[in-house]
Amino acid sequence: MLKKILYSIWLVLFCIAVFFSLKSTNFNAFIDMVENRTFDLRQNIMINANTKQPDKDIVIVSIDEATYEYILDHYGEWPLPRDVYVKLIDYLETQNPKIIAFDLMFVKSMKSPVNADEALVAAMAKYKNVFTAMNLDNQPEDLRTPPQLPESLAVNVTNYSDVNFDDLTFSNCRSILEGILRVTDNIGMINVSRADDGILRKMPLFVKYQDKYYSQLGLKVALAAINHQGDEKINTKNFVIDKDANLILGERKIFTDKDGGVILNWYGPNGAYTQVPMYKLIKVINGEAKDAGFNFENKIVYFGTTASALFDIKTTPTGKTVPGVEVQATYLNNFLDNNFIVKADKAVTAFTGIILALLTGFCIMRISSAFTATFASVSLYLIYILISYYMMKYFNIWLEVIYPLMLALLAFISAFIVKYLIKSRDFEQQYKLATTDGLTELYNHRYFQEQMLMMVENAKRYDREFSLIILDIDFFKKFNDTFGHQAGDAVLRQVAHTLKKNVRATDIVCRYGGEEMSIILPNTPKEEAAGTAQKICDRVASNKYKLGSDKEGQVTISLGVSTYPHDGSTPSEIIEAADKRLYTAKNSGRNRVVE
Ligand code: GH3
Ligand code: MG
Ligand code: MG
Repeated sequence: MLKKILYSIWLVLFCIAVFFSLKSTNFNAFIDMVENRTFDLRQNIMINANTKQPDKDIVIVSIDEATYEYILDHYGEWPLPRDVYVKLIDYLETQNPKIIAFDLMFVKSMKSPVNADEALVAAMAKYKNVFTAMNLDNQPEDLRTPPQLPESLAVNVTNYSDVNFDDLTFSNCRSILEGILRVTDNIGMINVSRADDGILRKMPLFVKYQDKYYSQLGLKVALAAINHQGDEKINTKNFVIDKDANLILGERKIFTDKDGGVILNWYGPNGAYTQVPMYKLIKVINGEAKDAGFNFENKIVYFGTTASALFDIKTTPTGKTVPGVEVQATYLNNFLDNNFIVKADKAVTAFTGIILALLTGFCIMRISSAFTATFASVSLYLIYILISYYMMKYFNIWLEVIYPLMLALLAFISAFIVKYLIKSRDFEQQYKLATTDGLTELYNHRYFQEQMLMMVENAKRYDREFSLIILDIDFFKKFNDTFGHQAGDAVLRQVAHTLKKNVRATDIVCRYGGEEMSIILPNTPKEEAAGTAQKICDRVASNKYKLGSDKEGQVTISLGVSTYPHDGSTPSEIIEAADKRLYTAKNSGRNRVVE
């Protein structure tokens, strides 16, 4: 019964804790921060275990340190005149790449000659597989007037979910060459979303500007790549996010978090994408080399800066900084493999937490050894952590670990407290069972003997007196024979009750055996003890005992009183003296006290 109550209190407290922790935003922010670190750790282990290999069809043409040096040597400055890119595009197109994407923005530049810019616009118009980038921002309007973007660049997003694009809404934009905006829609945004800790875990799908949605570059390139190869033709203009926050792309469902971001799943060791330094290509177009030593046929070619001098570095969960173009490549790769991370929703997290907590409670309550119970619980947590790792590794699912483990820990502590409470109650109960008599609830014979021993020792040490009364019910055998054993038991209980009611709280009332009882009276001289004995004798004799519906019975008792130190100096001498006087009381007519 008590156990059930404590279990229930434990459960109720637990549910309250779950409820409040889910409601508190500060608490959630803290949990999310730590949880993000566990995500990073999982990604890091996966990458070092080489779990996922990047797509070999993605090639990065990198403006690396060597290329930067080459450009400064040959052209005197960065950025490159735009006609160099035109020649690079022309050269690459002879090799039939699937897509050429620039993670570079061709903004208006004083340094780029007008005819070079126009050549680039012409190339963008000519080749339908060339993509370039643009970036939204929140620069003040007095710095630059927010430009109008072409109608055709915007996309329609029908959102049936609670995904909220507020954080991805921008008020300004740095325009790229107007000519490019005029001739092509192959322009994608390259905005990134960083967490508060500065780590890039997510990328937006769409960004908002002047109440319209714009696709990210990676999404555009991915759709072009998918539409290029298969029978699948995914609509690149109209998008639907279903009520479960999935962006529907043909067969693919891309899970979008509440803030409109997709969580990147990182590949292989960093730098695992095939990289070709751009200077090797420039050498070819300048006639300094015969070829770049690489075949671009059917490749998705991503141009981007990797030189640290050009500063486009992002911090990733894998603990390393990578150039932006590699983030773009990873984003694209996740689309192609359809393996963005799906974060388990809060309900699943709370549910796993409660399951872990219940299992913890079960372990601790059911396993008697604290060490084994702790070992079992900790093993349980380790198994859960392993499961969470493998769920990410094989199913791209991010099972939260911090919140469930916190609940489990809470359960761990509270279950131990409850267990301790139950145990201490058990000890009390065992002690009571060992020292009392079940029928009368008086102390038992063994306890009586222990107390007599202590009483004599204390009395000796402090030079005190104490008395003992031994009493026996008169003609009880006859009473039993007449009224039955059950009636006898009831009388025994009531006599015991009368005794307890008529002695001091410090007096010790015991069942000596059968229908004999004894009372130890500490610090009590003989006359006082005899007085108490007489009072008890009278009370018992005057009591009427109900026996069934109409009959009433009466009993009397005989009592013997002895006192330390007058009647002896050991327990047995004191007991014997009282016993003898009880015998005398019996022989001299019963229902009396002999002192
Ligand atoms: P007296 O003490 O006055 O000499 O007579 P008595 O009949 O009480 O004597 P005796 O000691 O021979 O009998 C004790 C009786 O007490 C025997 C037994 O039937 C009864 N008795 C002992 N313990 C219990 C008990 O737990 N319940 C009941 N109902 N009877 C008990
Ligand atoms: Mg008797
Ligand atoms: Mg007897």
